[in-house]
Amino acid sequence: MRTPKCHGRVIATLVGCTALVLAVTGTAPAQAGQRAGAERQVLPAGDGWAAYGAGTTGGAAADRSHVYTVTTWEQFKAALADGGSAPKIIRVRGTIDADGPSCDSFAVPRYDFGAYLAKYAPESWGRTTTLDGEPADSPEGLRRASAANQDAYIKAEVPANTTVIGVGKDAGFNGASLQIKGVDNVIVRNLRFESPLDCFPQWDPTDTADGNWNSEYDSAVVYGSTHVWMDHDTFTDGDHPDSTLPYYFGRIYEQHDGELDIVKGADYVTASWNVFEDHDKTILVGNSDSAATAAVDRGHLKVTFHHNLFRNLVERAPRVRFGQVDSYNNHFVAGDGYSYSYGIGMESQLVAEHNAFTLPAGAKAGSILKKWKEAPVTAADNYVNGRRTDLIAVHNAEVPGETLQSGAGWTPALRTRVDPARAVPGLVGHRAGAGRVG
Ligand code: CA
Ligand code: CA
Repeated sequence: MRTPKCHGRVIATLVGCTALVLAVTGTAPAQAGQRAGAERQVLPAGDGWAAYGAGTTGGAAADRSHVYTVTTWEQFKAALADGGSAPKIIRVRGTIDADGPSCDSFAVPRYDFGAYLAKYAPESWGRTTTLDGEPADSPEGLRRASAANQDAYIKAEVPANTTVIGVGKDAGFNGASLQIKGVDNVIVRNLRFESPLDCFPQWDPTDTADGNWNSEYDSAVVYGSTHVWMDHDTFTDGDHPDSTLPYYFGRIYEQHDGELDIVKGADYVTASWNVFEDHDKTILVGNSDSAATAAVDRGHLKVTFHHNLFRNLVERAPRVRFGQVDSYNNHFVAGDGYSYSYGIGMESQLVAEHNAFTLPAGAKAGSILKKWKEAPVTAADNYVNGRRTDLIAVHNAEVPGETLQSGAGWTPALRTRVDPARAVPGLVGHRAGAGRVG
């Protein structure tokens, strides 16, 4: 991990990083390598759920004083905080470390992971009591305080009417958690997100019979927001796949959460031409079955996924609750440890059409759909390893005791162009992911 630095050291010592980024970038001309106009592009009319109603324009209307170019996490956060909800464009140059100097830098003085392991070992603590009631001066209390420090550092809140766009081929964030929370009209394009690593996972002795380590921090979360376009981004565990993580109490010390979660009544989201790769629990649309969550989510969570590459994932591409989700023209490439692609959850109405699936030998097409709750699905014109396959029929034939009902009860209208499913692997392989626009 690198220590983030101010850009322009001499002036920064006089005026501070924040003043510098605003002063310098407010009038910065477009740089060579930025394709003309990419930063001011808006979601095309009719392009998925984010085109519904007023559509999604992000910061396209920004005046010159609200166009920023950033190269550090501090500059990025300062640009996000400047100017309220006035339209703004934030251009990200290069890969920005968002994860701080080290995990130790977030730990409170008396936090000691060895003491944590000693106190909560299943042999002594057991597996029936969570750690939630532990006091502030306990190992769990010190973990909570340390986690709060990391939380404040790696989360960045995106305001309304904003476009965040990577410049050129190598723009992105290591360890950032983008919070698109309670706002309208946001575009995020051409950025590579290497998943955050939670420095302080929490042990839950009661999660499954064996207990689990649980982590926070999605690379991006759309929380109660509307009109969001995620386009040509790459989400990956990168240099820190789960295979590199240690085990404690016989369980993987899981330090990842989701790549892109869409929750708490979020609505009108289009995710197009992204790569989601090398991850376990990838995308949640809706994060709970609880009555309180249902009251917020029911009638919302409308999301379109098209022309995305879902590669080497374990599950949730996405897992859906409540929402009308349209997933078409995506390519799913399964690897070792593949569990399922689409999770059919409470009151979901998934439409999955014209997609391509590439499964390794031994993986079953019946696993592409996973039934969590009784909810109808539309699945048509999908191809598995080059063969047209009825995903519902093959699921119902291969998975004993789980019967999915066909017919989601709605027909997607917001699609611009539907490609033949068999052309999708080539199209997506050549054009999806960060570094292709901007
Ligand atoms: Ca780093
Ligand atoms: Ca999450």
